[in-house]
Amino acid sequence: MSNRYPFELKPLPYEYNALEPHIDEATMKLHHDKHLKAYVDKLNEIVGPYPEFHNWYLETFLCNIHSLPNNLQTPIRNNAGGVYNHNLFFSLLSSKDTNSIPIGNLAEKIEKDFGSYENFKEKFKEAALSRFGSGYAWLVIDRNKNLKIITTANQNTPLELNLYPVLVIDVWEHAYYLKYNNRRNEYIDNFFSVLNFKKAEELYNRFFA
Ligand code: MN
Repeated sequence: MSNRYPFELKPLPYEYNALEPHIDEATMKLHHDKHLKAYVDKLNEIVGPYPEFHNWYLETFLCNIHSLPNNLQTPIRNNAGGVYNHNLFFSLLSSKDTNSIPIGNLAEKIEKDFGSYENFKEKFKEAALSRFGSGYAWLVIDRNKNLKIITTANQNTPLELNLYPVLVIDVWEHAYYLKYNNRRNEYIDNFFSVLNFKKAEELYNRFFA
């Protein structure tokens, strides 16, 4: 799977209906096959005419947005961000055979930094609800190697802020509107049931490796 130009649509790591009933099949199909694909296609269209960037990884673009030519900064932020954020979000959702509660080092750190997993969930939900309009809520590792909850607008990523992501929820309406209508609240509650903490633990440990 190419993480450089030409970028490819990464398949979901599970079936479209794997997250039922919490996240429905129709939403997953639309979200992956239409929304994510549009970001991949658009990104290729933008990067195509610039051979000097054909060996750049997705992350290279997002960590170095400010060194790109001015006219590329916003389209790259939106579309490379759209690809990166969705790939990460989908990979952090689980089918039935993965952990939906924190494990290992990440579990320990969540307890240390937030008091308990329950308290973390409350704070994370508050953040996800507070994101006005379209965007994401994140659990990230900051410069001091502590966990922090942040939100980003649109398709902005934590990479640009020098923060390393461990968990993410997409709170664009397209992520939940078909099933939950305007009930973002309920969508967030059910999101916790399909979180893949095995993957989150991998991301967390990779940062410290
Ligand atoms: Mn989305």
